[in-house]
Amino acid sequence: MKSVTRVAVIGGGVVGASVLYHLTKAGWKDVLLIERAELTSGSTWHAAGGMHTVNGDPNVAKLQQYTIELYKEIERISGQSCGVHITGGLMLAGTRERLDWLKMAKARGRYLGMDLEIISVDEAAGLFPLLDKKHFKGAMYDPIEGHVDPYGVTHAYAKSAQLGGAEIVRHTRVTDLKARSDGSWDVITDHGNVHAEYVVNAAGLWAREVGRMVGIELPILAMEHQYLITGDMPELKGKKEQLHCIDFEGELYLRQERGGMLLGTYEKAGVPWSPTQTPWDFGQDLLANDLERIAPSLEVAFEHFPALADAGIRKVVNGPFTFAPDGNPLVGPVRGLKNFWVACGVMAGFSQGGGVGLALSRWLIDGDPGADIWGMDVARYGDWTTLAYTNAKVRENYSRRFSIRFPNEELQAARPLRTTPIYERLQAANAVFGDYCGLEHSLWFAPSAQSAKDEFSFHRSNDFPHVAAECDAVRNSAGLLEISNYGKFEIKGTGAADWLSRVMSNRVPAVGRIALTPMLNERGKLIGDFTMCRVAPEHFFLIGTYAAETYYLRWFERHHPSPGVSIRSCAMEYVGLSIAGPNSRALLQELVRDDLSTAAFPFLSFKRMEIGMVPGYVGRVSFTGELGFEIWVTTDYQRALYDLLVGAGRKYDLRPFGGRALNCMRVEKSFGTWTREYRPIYGPFEAGLGRFVDFNKEKFVGRAAALAERGGGGGALRLLTFKLESVDTDALGDEPIWHEGKVVGWVTSGAFGHRVNHSLALGYVPAAIAGATSGFEIEIIGERHHAQPLPEAAYDAKGSRMRS
Ligand SMILES: Cc1cc2nc3c(=O)[nH]c(=O)nc-3n(C[C@H](O)[C@H](O)[C@H](O)COP(=O)(O)OP(=O)(O)OC[C@H]3O[C@@H](n4cnc5c(N)ncnc54)[C@H](O)[C@@H]3O)c2cc1C
Repeated sequence: MKSVTRVAVIGGGVVGASVLYHLTKAGWKDVLLIERAELTSGSTWHAAGGMHTVNGDPNVAKLQQYTIELYKEIERISGQSCGVHITGGLMLAGTRERLDWLKMAKARGRYLGMDLEIISVDEAAGLFPLLDKKHFKGAMYDPIEGHVDPYGVTHAYAKSAQLGGAEIVRHTRVTDLKARSDGSWDVITDHGNVHAEYVVNAAGLWAREVGRMVGIELPILAMEHQYLITGDMPELKGKKEQLHCIDFEGELYLRQERGGMLLGTYEKAGVPWSPTQTPWDFGQDLLANDLERIAPSLEVAFEHFPALADAGIRKVVNGPFTFAPDGNPLVGPVRGLKNFWVACGVMAGFSQGGGVGLALSRWLIDGDPGADIWGMDVARYGDWTTLAYTNAKVRENYSRRFSIRFPNEELQAARPLRTTPIYERLQAANAVFGDYCGLEHSLWFAPSAQSAKDEFSFHRSNDFPHVAAECDAVRNSAGLLEISNYGKFEIKGTGAADWLSRVMSNRVPAVGRIALTPMLNERGKLIGDFTMCRVAPEHFFLIGTYAAETYYLRWFERHHPSPGVSIRSCAMEYVGLSIAGPNSRALLQELVRDDLSTAAFPFLSFKRMEIGMVPGYVGRVSFTGELGFEIWVTTDYQRALYDLLVGAGRKYDLRPFGGRALNCMRVEKSFGTWTREYRPIYGPFEAGLGRFVDFNKEKFVGRAAALAERGGGGGALRLLTFKLESVDTDALGDEPIWHEGKVVGWVTSGAFGHRVNHSLALGYVPAAIAGATSGFEIEIIGERHHAQPLPEAAYDAKGSRMRS
């Protein structure tokens, strides 16, 4: 083994091998993979090798497409067969809701260029004769599904990497990692040490343990997973290879394996494997079978596919593999550590391994993953993902692998975990809560405790009239919203203003003022949007999306502040309440000594005030489009503030409102939000944020690229607002936008605009057709609805209400 290397990849499963290959492909030859046993010695060797393109996150779906297309390339380079069988696949729907879900998946696939097709039960039976038609309502056909040989794929990556200059050492275990002061690593193994500039943790089943070597607890957990292979079946004899098949209602997947069928299940009662510590002596071992556990799924299988009942079982495989709480991989540099990267938690290595390797190698080498990989960025998780939290969420995710998640369905595991001091107050007001980063927040308020429950649906549901009433209150009197679920940062010091000026694209506000600002990367793409408030000359309060807290901190660290700047996340130290609506000023004025008139406290003002006895920051901002105030206090004061506002609010018809009403109102105002309208694939002009980019500043990250975007006519895409004709369903996001019979774009958010009384959607289309005033349609659950682009926001486009 060499003693010095540029990158040490830990782990020779399919993911580590892919990372190694992609590094060499990008031109880095001085790279080393260290494997404790033989290649594939974790979960890779006993995988069923299935692969497919469909994923809930369209960006992850794109990387899955890439992975499947890659197999030809590595076979050609290495001469090693990957054993690729592209059989095509069926996803079977046993219920009307599932068929709706498949129609939505098909629609999403359209703008990704996927060739998916909804077919009848008869057509499905023609393609997959083993099924009993009476249990199904329809199916989706995907021509690009199949399976590979896990050993072949891993060795094809490995050989291709070696031919590209990489070194692979086997039977060498990394036992410790020691950081040097320059950010490089001493990789300690049982066969000597290596000095590496970068380390990539691709240790699969042991990634959590490798993480612990550097003091982090990665949110991953291995689950036991079983599949069985039947004896030879006469029904298959002499026939073309059977398609891959997913039966959602049975929680089953099937494919042909030689003369029989391979049948796997994500059973409801899934069992974690090694919940706290993965044993180092676990080799190419299998776990004891437990057919009892999957008996309910097998019963369904025998009913839905009767020939299986007589086929007998030739072999059972029970093996562990890892999941993150949301089932997507963990990829990227770890915040707080220099040059330490992860590529783990990959539960579908044969669909995702290639995409993970590609994204990681580009990111490491070019400083940018080259695609929108937020859905698998390790920084989407923060401190709340403790071992037990991860355990609860992974078990839930496993058990729901083939379940439908309705757009209004909140998952219940690990809840309530984090609550703010007014949680019980909101409960008493019949709040229906959602979970955001482990934190409870109110979605809407029901008329009684009994009715405080969502009825899950793809269509408008029981919350609709109540959300309408909340929007009405905000429009006509006043509404109270808890806003604690934002990320908050305190930036202080003599260099704070200069540093913010360099990292943010808008101008730094004067003391007592607020500036809304995008944050751009070097490619001029959006990687954040903030409310930047200046408390004092050397003191700023920054508000942004909470889910991106770690992501932002990692970026802040990369754009290292000078010695005169301190950056502190204070997300849960400050909690907030917002009041909005025409009565909000009079209400708040009763509680503060400061003059709240527009003359004294205009739109985008920010000031420390005493609200009754409560000290806090008051900002005059609005995400609802109405006159409004955001009040931030330390956690100990939140209950007192809430009681004060509710007490004073009686006279002003104040009523609580939740996140769903807020979403409706911000869509009416065409206000975008991070992870929906604002993502690293859009430029500020494309997203309609050009006015928040201050080119008078000579230096800020992304300036040259943003200038080029402006100079080139504002980028290739445009964010538009559409008025939608729909019956009882609103767009959610990710629906295709059609123009004159062709799919041209995608929806980012949708909602019913209660103040304007029609359905709305925000979405991106090519700039070249953004000026068209007709010909647009948006496809919702398989039906195309006329969509009228609006020249400006649907509600109070001039913004006079929030500025009044
Ligand atoms: C029963 C079963 C069926 C499956 N079916 C499918 C399927 O059909 N399709 C699909 O896409 N996926 C499937 N999977 C999941 C798939 O196996 C995983 O997604 C994939 O194997 C993950 O690969 P990995 O490289 O991340 O991890 P692993 O395969 O666990 O590899 C990690 C490697 O790192 C090495 N290592 C760990 N720690 C150290 C250390 N300290 N020093 C040196 N080396 C170290 C290990 O020895 C191991 O070889 C299945 C899994 C199971 C268990």
